[in-house]
Amino acid sequence: MLTQRLVLTGDEAHDKPLIQQAAAIIRAGGLVAFPTETVYGLGADALNSEAVRRIFTAKGRPAWDPLIVHVDTPDAIRRYTRDCSVLTEQLIRAFMPGPLTLVLPKQEAISDVVTAGRDTVAIRIPQHPVARALIRYSGTPIAAPSANKFGRPSPTTADHVLHDLNGEIEAVLDAGQTPMGVESTILDMTTQPPTLLRPGGVPKEAIEAIIGRVRVLGEPIPEGESLPAPGLSARHYAPQAKVLLCAPEPDIFYGTLKDALSQYAIVGALRPDSWRAPDDPRLRLFEWGAWGDWETLAQRLFLGLRALEKEQAHAIVCPLPPEEGLARALRDRLLRAAR
Ligand code: AMP
Ligand code: MG
Repeated sequence: MLTQRLVLTGDEAHDKPLIQQAAAIIRAGGLVAFPTETVYGLGADALNSEAVRRIFTAKGRPAWDPLIVHVDTPDAIRRYTRDCSVLTEQLIRAFMPGPLTLVLPKQEAISDVVTAGRDTVAIRIPQHPVARALIRYSGTPIAAPSANKFGRPSPTTADHVLHDLNGEIEAVLDAGQTPMGVESTILDMTTQPPTLLRPGGVPKEAIEAIIGRVRVLGEPIPEGESLPAPGLSARHYAPQAKVLLCAPEPDIFYGTLKDALSQYAIVGALRPDSWRAPDDPRLRLFEWGAWGDWETLAQRLFLGLRALEKEQAHAIVCPLPPEEGLARALRDRLLRAAR
């Protein structure tokens, strides 16, 4: 199969026919990768089981790992789920469209393939104008996990998508780099209090300011066990290189790089601005951004992991962000990548 790259310019007259072409592929049961504000998604018609099955095949994703359904209005959330509580309505009003996914009891129409046989569905309204237009023109909810091979770092550019999936999907809508760079926050609304299944673009603190206390799941659980949320499988988001995490102190970062250089032939690092690194030709530095500027560091995390992998780094050194705000999402992805 030839994968078409549909390059968008941001000019409506230019982009509209391309997005409509992609929507026609979705309606016909095909697969289209598209930008969201978080990462690129791999979309199929969520009401078409055959189409959704192809997502699992293309990604090499196990069938027990359910997908997120993307819709374009709060009404569509109510249509495809049941029991929208007061808390759910408050979250919809506060954060949608945006990087928040809610797990809710599902309606019949959503394919069991999407939910891996569960009676709940994970659903969200993306904010990216291209994602919104694609859903609208398709006239159907779109099931979409991240558009990478299972277990790999999520794609934040169309090049990342093509690196993993070229020849296995019909098209990718290329709108450049995705603005946030980490996936949506996933909140299970079927428990009391609601449970944070995956930290992401909307910080837990912001959610608690609206609905009160949220339960947090513990540490990553081992591969193969029954998973409340598949992104929780132990090793995930991982480049081929070994990821070595260190405490977020410039001196410790320097020492960790020294150690790594004594053990690995080529060493990469996600380097915060102005943090010192040893002078060694075997070192590959990705200039990550200012430590503490979590928006920038989030946007560039997967970009950096993939760039260093491309430079053949055998190990990648990275300071571990703290457990707060948006940093919690970066910390989560890095802990899983390091397993
Ligand atoms: P991805 O978009 O590739 O990060 O994967 C979709 C994510 O959606 C998974 O990691 C799950 O955490 C989550 N998910 C989808 N459906 C459900 C569900 N019914 N219950 C809990 N989590 C879900
Ligand atoms: Mg994923």
